[in-house]
Amino acid sequence: MIYLDNAATTKPCAEAVKAAAECAELCFGNPSSLHKMGIEAEKVLTGAKKVILQRLGKEGELYFTSGATESNNLAVFGAVNALKRRGNRIVTTAIEHPSVAEPMKRLREQGFEVAELKPCEHEDLEQAIIDAVDDKTILVSCMAVNNETGFIVDTKRVYNGVKKKSPKCVVHSDGVQGFCKVPISADLISISAHKIHGMKGVGALYKAKDTRLLPAVYGGGQQGGLRSGTEPVELIAAFGAAVRAYPENFTRFSELKEHLLKPLSELSGVTVNTKNSQNSVPNIVNFSVKGVRSEIMLHFLEERGIFVSSGSACSRGKVSTVLSALGFSAAEADSAIRVSFCRDNTKEEIDLLAEGISDGIKRFRR
Ligand code: PLP
Repeated sequence: MIYLDNAATTKPCAEAVKAAAECAELCFGNPSSLHKMGIEAEKVLTGAKKVILQRLGKEGELYFTSGATESNNLAVFGAVNALKRRGNRIVTTAIEHPSVAEPMKRLREQGFEVAELKPCEHEDLEQAIIDAVDDKTILVSCMAVNNETGFIVDTKRVYNGVKKKSPKCVVHSDGVQGFCKVPISADLISISAHKIHGMKGVGALYKAKDTRLLPAVYGGGQQGGLRSGTEPVELIAAFGAAVRAYPENFTRFSELKEHLLKPLSELSGVTVNTKNSQNSVPNIVNFSVKGVRSEIMLHFLEERGIFVSSGSACSRGKVSTVLSALGFSAAEADSAIRVSFCRDNTKEEIDLLAEGISDGIKRFRR
């Protein structure tokens, strides 16, 4: 099996599996319990929190959630509900994951003014976001790395520019694809464990100390009342272990990307959908194969044991609106393949992928 769909999810690493198993075996107490078992479980949360905050390079607060979908919902609705008396304008981009885009749709229906910027209409997206902020803007939400193409948004520039213009405006970043790969600047950052070799079902929301947020879930008051519900200690232990095991300054992704781009550039009718390679992470490559629909190529490769994605795993066959917002044509979007690496992938695997694409073109191109 050659697994090249790591932006959809990653295989839990050995360290994460071990941490979860040990925790389930030895440390299964409820972190809210006052006895020793509870205190031991609480220590697991504190340890994981520390390592995650360290990797984010932040000193604020961290709240565990069921994944980044929940983190994004908590960030967007939580910030808007806390700040709506101050204004009703929100600025976001047209390339956000559905877990930001859908909450934005609901807020628009509720009467909020949501400015959704398309990268294809703004040469300098970061400046456009800053320019779109006015004194009624309460929230800016902009992802750090796009999940379909690997496109990077300079969140530091956005954050500094927005804060200079409107210090009280809250800046959120969906950091799922950027976490452990690029620096992320925001008051609120959503992350997910299963994208970095942790387990599915756990994520986190980073919150800068003075950022106001209302809860989306009410109950037993865990995690300072901001996210009630018993914390999944085993999954959180695995999350911490996965972060600890994730290498810093990993250069192999760039080598793998270069290794793939070379044969792709030699195939006729193949275009790489990341126009500026400096503007994209090296672990995601999105390309279109003229005359071969994504799903046809995906299943052809699958027959050879090679697993890739057609755009975003969450869009399941729907033509990507993200690619269109990034300026790619409907034909390019319809034939787009996303390849995403993890640290275990090899150049030999990339060779087999390139051979598979070439054979797929010979077989299917109309
Ligand atoms: N945001 C981005 C950019 C993603 O790629 C994903 C997952 O595909 C999510 C959010 C949702 O994360 P989760 O699966 O943890 O809910």
